[in-house]
Amino acid sequence: SKIIENHTSVFTATAIERLLAEDVIIVGRCNCDEFAMGASNENSAFGVVKNADDETRVPGGSSGGSAVAVQADLCLAALGSDTGGSIRQPASFTGTFGLKTTYGRVSRSGLLAYASSFDQIGPITSSVEDAALILEIMAGNDEKDATSSHATVTQYSDLKATKRIAFSKEILESEGLDKDVKDTYLNLIDKLRTEGHTVEEVSFPYLDYMVPCYYVLTTAEASSNLSRYSGILFGERSENSTDIDSTFKKSRTEGFGEEVKRRIMTGTFVLSADYYEAYYSKAQKVRRIIKEESEKILEDYDYFLCPSAPSVAFEINSEKAKDPIQMYLADIFTVQASLAGLPALSIPTTRFDNLSVGMQVMGRAFDEMGVLALGKQINSFYES
Ligand code: GLN
Repeated sequence: SKIIENHTSVFTATAIERLLAEDVIIVGRCNCDEFAMGASNENSAFGVVKNADDETRVPGGSSGGSAVAVQADLCLAALGSDTGGSIRQPASFTGTFGLKTTYGRVSRSGLLAYASSFDQIGPITSSVEDAALILEIMAGNDEKDATSSHATVTQYSDLKATKRIAFSKEILESEGLDKDVKDTYLNLIDKLRTEGHTVEEVSFPYLDYMVPCYYVLTTAEASSNLSRYSGILFGERSENSTDIDSTFKKSRTEGFGEEVKRRIMTGTFVLSADYYEAYYSKAQKVRRIIKEESEKILEDYDYFLCPSAPSVAFEINSEKAKDPIQMYLADIFTVQASLAGLPALSIPTTRFDNLSVGMQVMGRAFDEMGVLALGKQINSFYES
């Protein structure tokens, strides 16, 4: 964001501190959508990242720079934050692994806040083992983040048994699902059955509510979190400001990009006294249903399988870039795990026209290692 262009952090994030303590070598910082708001990297204040498999395509977002850094082999691993898909969807578009951790698994101390009841830090890598290693180092309670969990951090090991896996009837039938992605989904279900897993169809009739619910809640949280960028305490202050009101107004007008402004305004609207009940409060109730019903599926099944995104990487400056609703719909399969606070991994599978299709495994809270182990087996089906 331009609004913090010249700001230097005054402390280091816990996740980074823990990696540095293990002698990680930091190669650089990556581009992403402004304040992690976006699904294509086209909302960056510093230009769009290109997909290394096809430079006319987006890398996904918001952590597009991180995903391409791994895709193009510039580094072994990169980090992203995932609020509604920002690790998993770019991983899906770049043929890498992207893990969103359980809410509370990794400390957010030092992470720039977008929507605090969703945000989680996680790795993007070219192998499951690398993701597991990075997670083992970063995860665990931190006194600087009261939402970080005390749950023990488990060690990675390969999948040893067959599992019970659910897939969604509604997703298979959903209109927005591209044929190549659908075929991959069906084909993967067959392959998993051949390996001895029990793979069964379940009904989860909330698909249409997922994106609206996510965007009501996250814009509300963002409007609150971003109120700290006022031109007063830190960040850019407009040169045209003359008094306190014009400092707030002009600094934000000049410092924030279009999408960020749209979200702050939407969030302020859904939280306003007249509309709070109709939008924010309703969305909180919908979130609870989505969380409870997702957990119910995971009582009967070990994992829930779905595509990471409805399509492969789309073109830069496509129709989506002009229509926010179309762009938001790119998140349709990733926001479930975010609303429910569950871990989910995007796994590279087939390729069409040299573009990767990502499939997603969602698991029970704190079963990141199980999710990774199944992810490894799934990826092995596609290695030639
Ligand atoms: N595309 C989603 C959004 O714009 C996801 C962003 C994220 O996870 N940070 O909100």
